[in-house]
Amino acid sequence: MPEGHTVHRNARDLAPLVGAPLRVSSPQGRFAEEAAQVDGAPLGSVEAWGKHLLLGLGDARYVHVHLGMRGTWLPRPPGEPPIRSARLRVEGAAGTWELVAPSTCELLAPPAAAAVVARLGPDPLRPDADREAALAALGRGTTAIGALLLDQSVVAGVGNVFRAEALHAVGVHPRTPGRSVERSTLERLWDVLVAMMGRAVEDGRIVTVDAQDRSAVPEAEARRVYKQAHCRDCGADVVVEQVGGRTSYACPVEQPAP
Ligand SMILES: [Zn+2]
Repeated sequence: MPEGHTVHRNARDLAPLVGAPLRVSSPQGRFAEEAAQVDGAPLGSVEAWGKHLLLGLGDARYVHVHLGMRGTWLPRPPGEPPIRSARLRVEGAAGTWELVAPSTCELLAPPAAAAVVARLGPDPLRPDADREAALAALGRGTTAIGALLLDQSVVAGVGNVFRAEALHAVGVHPRTPGRSVERSTLERLWDVLVAMMGRAVEDGRIVTVDAQDRSAVPEAEARRVYKQAHCRDCGADVVVEQVGGRTSYACPVEQPAP
């Protein structure tokens, strides 16, 4: 399931299209009416905010994309016919991309696009992220830190894998209330998220185990606790439970229960 690193990578992939007119269409048809409204407009910006992508087109309109569970952007080689299920196809001088199976693909006016961003907490992958605001929101939370991390209005872009791996990295149990976590630990947690998510943008996937060559790590062995039977640090049986409505994974030795 896509987390923030995927969306930031999408933004990076689409960035070369900025500054030139964009052919916009909807091979599948569900976005055809909206696509026709912005077809041929210059692409002014591509911005990732947490798990949301905003393409700024022409007359101050935005295409807002959320990948949801299964959405994906696919590069399309020149001359290939469109994928029939593609909700959105964007075609510029620098390349062609198609969006398949997003949970959201909509055309927004600037106020609505700004409202999408305003609902989000700081995004560890953005250089302009307000670290202090994120630390404050986590530190005053009365609910589990594992639930707070998945709340996109607290921190944007963190999904279930980053939650599990970042909390393991700082030795905090997912059920610990946010306000019970020491300030210095919250600071480390934010910094771990920045580094871990940044590496995932570079790698195109989430690898948290140490490796000389992260690209060579098999997918099933890439994480320390997420979907692991045993903690890859200490070998303890990973504890699986529901936190914040999602399955959480924690090491009972390194992340003592509150
Ligand atoms: Zn462990």
